[in-house]
Amino acid sequence: MAANNPAKPHDESCIFCRIVAGSIPCHRIYEDDVVLSFLDIGPVTPGHVLVIPKAHHATVMAAPAELMAELGRRLPKLARAVTQAVNCPACHVLLNSGVEAMQSVAHLHYHIIPRRLGDSFHVPWPAGKLDTAAAQSLAASIGENLK
Ligand code: AMP
Ligand code: ZN
Repeated sequence: MAANNPAKPHDESCIFCRIVAGSIPCHRIYEDDVVLSFLDIGPVTPGHVLVIPKAHHATVMAAPAELMAELGRRLPKLARAVTQAVNCPACHVLLNSGVEAMQSVAHLHYHIIPRRLGDSFHVPWPAGKLDTAAAQSLAASIGENLK
């Protein structure tokens, strides 16, 4: 991790940091001081884009709250622009955080994935049933961690 600017952490071994630095090309759709957005190289549906902070933070658990707020502020306009461009009524806004949660690039990023009825993308969602006996202590335990 290079420490040339502590306010904007940068990791030379990180592919997205290298895209931010311009040493790896991308199909850029939006850029400002805080974020960069570009087309995903392996789109799961047409119009699949990524939205990344320019600063290197691996996961949402490791990210500063202020940075997440800045990213969030930009998502509605980006999601509108993307879905309009591919004429889709819907989209996923996904953030995989950690390898066990399907994160393959360890630089925080949102996916915007346009969706339409009948498209070929399927997200497995094997819903279970909340264990009501355990729910109270689980909720309390999470609440304790927020203190
Ligand atoms: P995730 O599995 O959530 O970490 O997603 C990483 C995403 O980055 C995948 O959808 C990849 O297709 C995408 N990706 C990896 N390398 C590049 C690249 N050089 N340019 C654009 N997208 C990339
Ligand atoms: Zn990075």
